[in-house]
Amino acid sequence: MKKSILTLASLAFLFAACNNAPTTETTETTPETTETTAPAETETETAPAESTAPAVAEVTIEGNDQMKFNLSEIKVKEGQTVKLTLKHVGKAPKTVMGHNFVLLAQGLDMVTFSKDAIAAKATDYIPEKDLSNIIAHTKLIGGGESDVIEFTAPAKGSYDFLCSFPGHAALMKGKFIVE
Ligand code: ZN
Repeated sequence: MKKSILTLASLAFLFAACNNAPTTETTETTPETTETTAPAETETETAPAESTAPAVAEVTIEGNDQMKFNLSEIKVKEGQTVKLTLKHVGKAPKTVMGHNFVLLAQGLDMVTFSKDAIAAKATDYIPEKDLSNIIAHTKLIGGGESDVIEFTAPAKGSYDFLCSFPGHAALMKGKFIVE
């Protein structure tokens, strides 16, 4: 009888000891967690520099059945990856009211380009001879469609963008500004 009580007592002690052990470990882990938080704060300090110019600039521009873009100016930072979405929010098919987004290099005159584009129906109004002076362009889309393109923002400056569907550049144009 006496022996078994002792055994029970020592078992209880062992149980308590085992129970204490993890608690002590947990207490030890807590300072470690605090230590882990410290480097994280250092990362947070680095973050503002990055957030000044996020790696990717997401731009959405809409074209409608009234032959208009919803933006006349787009601003990005030099060197950013520009993820540009062109949405045709109208209903007219692309043969009647097609839209694209064409970003011209600074040497290419917009008026001359849009005149040349009229003759480039086979290539969706993107003259092949001008391709080297086009920074980026979407495909030609009709009502309800959209297209997404990605390109690297060029050097700081002001660039022209337009829709090269015949006649549209009169209204569908704007400035793409790289800061
Ligand atoms: Zn258009």
